[in-house]
Amino acid sequence: MLTVEEAVEQILSRVEPLPTEWVDLEAALGRVLGEPVVSGRQVPPWPNSSMDGYALRSEDARAANASLRVVLQVAAGAAPSRAIGPGEAARIFTGAAMPPGADAVIPQEDVQVDGDQIVAARPVRAGDFVRAAGEDVRVGDAVLERGRPIGPPEIGMLATLGYSRVRVHRRPRVAILSTGDELAELGREPSPGQIPNSNTYALMAQVRETGADPVNLGVAPDRREAIETRLGWGRSADVLLSSAGVSVGEFDFVKDALARLGATLHLWRVSMRPGKPIAFGSLGGRPVFGLPGNPVSAMVTFELFVRPALRKMAGHTRLTRPTVLARALSPIPNPGARRGFLRVTVTPDDGGYGVRLTGDQGSSILKSMVLADGLAIVAPDTTIEPGGAVEVILLR
Ligand code: AMP
Ligand code: MG
Repeated sequence: MLTVEEAVEQILSRVEPLPTEWVDLEAALGRVLGEPVVSGRQVPPWPNSSMDGYALRSEDARAANASLRVVLQVAAGAAPSRAIGPGEAARIFTGAAMPPGADAVIPQEDVQVDGDQIVAARPVRAGDFVRAAGEDVRVGDAVLERGRPIGPPEIGMLATLGYSRVRVHRRPRVAILSTGDELAELGREPSPGQIPNSNTYALMAQVRETGADPVNLGVAPDRREAIETRLGWGRSADVLLSSAGVSVGEFDFVKDALARLGATLHLWRVSMRPGKPIAFGSLGGRPVFGLPGNPVSAMVTFELFVRPALRKMAGHTRLTRPTVLARALSPIPNPGARRGFLRVTVTPDDGGYGVRLTGDQGSSILKSMVLADGLAIVAPDTTIEPGGAVEVILLR
C-alpha cells in the first residue's frame, strides 16, 4: 500500500495548471495570477505631499523661524501652475503634486500664517513629508509573480498599475457523483434502509472552498451502467470525483464503471486512517478520484489528495495546508497499522498550540469533524501522551 506522500506525489505529477483567461479586476479576488506583473508605471507617478501644509525649498528654511511668501496653491488633482523660487512657498494638500523647485513640505501645524507670509516654526530638511516618485514601485519592477493568489492587496496594486483586467488561471470544474442504493436525495424523506446523501454537499463545499466550481452529478444506484452514465455526464468537467463504491464490497462498481469509460487507474488504496480505499486515475487526460464513502473518509481524503491537485490546476504554487507542531493536551491514540489523521481542536497555548481529540474517530462520525479545526498526524500503533509533540494540519 502507498504512503500518503507517495500518493500525493503521484497525483501531483499527473495534473497541470489549467490554461489562463482574462477576467475583470473586480472578479479577480481568489483567482491565481497566470503571468507575472511587471510594472509599466512608477508609483507614485510624481513627487507629492504626504501632509496638508506648505511646499518650499529646504535651503530657505534650514533654521527655525524662516519667513516665506506663499505664491501658489496646489490642491490634490491639480497640476502646479508654476515653480517655486527662493523665499517662496506653495500652499499644498495631501496627495498634491510638488511644484517644481520645492523639495520639502512643512505641515500646517508647524507654520504661523499672516496673510501671504508664513513663518516655519521648525527647521526643514530636504525630502520632509514628500513622497518621492517611484518610492513604492519603479518602472520595470517585478511586482507580482505568476502563481500568486489575488487578495485585496494584490487587487489594489493591480488597480494602481492600471490593470482593469488581469490574466488568471481558469478555475477547475469538478463533477461530483455519489453512489449507493442507500442514498436518499436531499429533500426526500429517507425510506427504511436509506440515509441522506451528505457527501455530495460536503464535497461540493470543499470544492468551492478550494476555489473551484462543483457540478452535481447526483446519486447513482449501485449499478455499473448507472454509474457509467452519470460519470459520462461529467466528461466536460476538468476533474471527476465520486464517493463510495471503491472498496472490495460486492457492489463496488465505481472502478469497473471507470474502466469501461476508458479510464486508466494509477493508484488504489493508501495507508491511512480514515480513508484507505481511494482510487486515482485519468480519463481522457482528466484526473478522476474515487473517494471512500464514509463521510469523514471522503472529506479527509479530499483534503489530502484532491485539494492539492485542484490547487495545482488553479495555478497555486503552495498546494498544502499549513502544519504546526503542537502539544497533546490529552492522549491521542492511533491503534492499527495505518497512519492516523485524527480530528482535533487546536487552541493557542503558551506561545504554541495545544490539541485535543474532538471525540469518536469513527470514519462515519461527522460530529467530530464538525468540531475539528485540525488533523493530528500520528504514526501507526502509537499513542501521543499528554505533553507530547504532534504535527497538526490546520484546517481552518
Ligand atoms: P461504501 O464505500 O459504498 O462501502 O460506503 C461506505 C459507507 O459510506 C456506507 O456506510 C455508506 O452508506 C456511506 N456513504 C456512502 N455514500 C454516502 C453519501 N453520499 N452520503 C453519506 N454517506 C454515504
Ligand atoms: Mg456503497
